[in-house]
Amino acid sequence: MVSPSSFVEAFSQRFPQAPAPSLYRAPGRINLIGEHTDYNLGFVLPIALELACFTAVAPAAGGMLRVYSVNLGLTREIPVAELAGALPAKDWSDYVFGVAQQLVRAGYAGSACDLLVGSTVPTGGGLSSSAALEVSTALALLGGRGIGNLDLARLCQRAEREFVGMPCGIMDQYISIFGRQGAAVKIDCRSLEREYAVLPADVEIVAVNSMVKHELGSSAYRERVRECGEAVAVIQRHRPEAGSLRDVRRQELDEWKAEMDPVVFRRAAHVTSENERVEAFMEASRGGDLAGMGRLFVGSHRSLQHDYEVSCEELDFLVDTATGLPGVYGSRMTGGGFGGCTVNLVETGAVTAFEAGIAQAYRDRYGITPVFYQSRPAAGASQIG
Ligand code: ADP
Ligand code: MG
Repeated sequence: MVSPSSFVEAFSQRFPQAPAPSLYRAPGRINLIGEHTDYNLGFVLPIALELACFTAVAPAAGGMLRVYSVNLGLTREIPVAELAGALPAKDWSDYVFGVAQQLVRAGYAGSACDLLVGSTVPTGGGLSSSAALEVSTALALLGGRGIGNLDLARLCQRAEREFVGMPCGIMDQYISIFGRQGAAVKIDCRSLEREYAVLPADVEIVAVNSMVKHELGSSAYRERVRECGEAVAVIQRHRPEAGSLRDVRRQELDEWKAEMDPVVFRRAAHVTSENERVEAFMEASRGGDLAGMGRLFVGSHRSLQHDYEVSCEELDFLVDTATGLPGVYGSRMTGGGFGGCTVNLVETGAVTAFEAGIAQAYRDRYGITPVFYQSRPAAGASQIG
């Protein structure tokens, strides 16, 4: 769907009065490991994808900010003068107008323009189509006005937290901006420092889209955020300086187990052990230990499945099937959960058979054809035309 020239053509058809547009690209991501740790100010290890959201923009007359989504075939508009005080419409346009509002609040004056957005990132699939939309929109609306990359990431995160109403961490916006071709990015979600990591050769990252999305997703996410806060409150009775689960090792948690609600304890057990898995994964990757990396993938999945309880039957089936196939080092759910994608570490020569095996088993079990994304780490967001 999206080559720069076809995109510009689509823009001109949709907005025939508009001058030639500028074009921006912001990628989706796959998180390799470190799930549900970002809003606990811990560690994550995503890669930016070639899959991306593209936004074309040109100035318009008439005082409106107008946006057309190629994916949805829908237009939304809002008077620029009303942006600062706008309220969410509770639909997809909130990502766009939320960003526009944050820009105005940050001192970047709004102006009338037409936007056309189109994404190759599957929506709601755990590959962060939402951050790709936010970041590409923000760059388009900035139109070359300078902003620091970290400020841009934080601004887009605020749009999602405050306008869309999703209490997300910083990972998705950060990696969409700071992604680098050929490298995964370990992010410290508290200091916002990053470390680039090149994975061993001879391994492919394959995402498998379960093509299901259970409704529970966003309410469960909020509930997990709250439960993690409850765990921190207990920890602070003993360690007042602990600001988040980031500050606690998995083993230390046992000391306070008796004081915690059992569910809250399991949530905290996931987050603290997951942070340690990110560090261990980096270590294994540096040493070329593919088997070790794979075991950490599966450990992460089991923790998300049993302790954090954000997996679902279909994702568990995909992981269990994958780990029984030849040439598969490891498999886990990726993203928020309750559907969306798994991420798999597969030996280069085994990818074709892996995809065939998964497709067959998943179709036999659920009657659904999964979609595969062989993923190489791609560059972060930029203007492309
Ligand atoms: P994810 O980020 O994992 O894809 P989210 O639920 O966070 O899932 O975000 C998906 C939502 O983002 C969609 O339901 C839609 O509202 C919005 N969105 C993403 N890309 C587009 C697009 N190209 N056009 C319109 N809306 C989009
Ligand atoms: Mg999202």
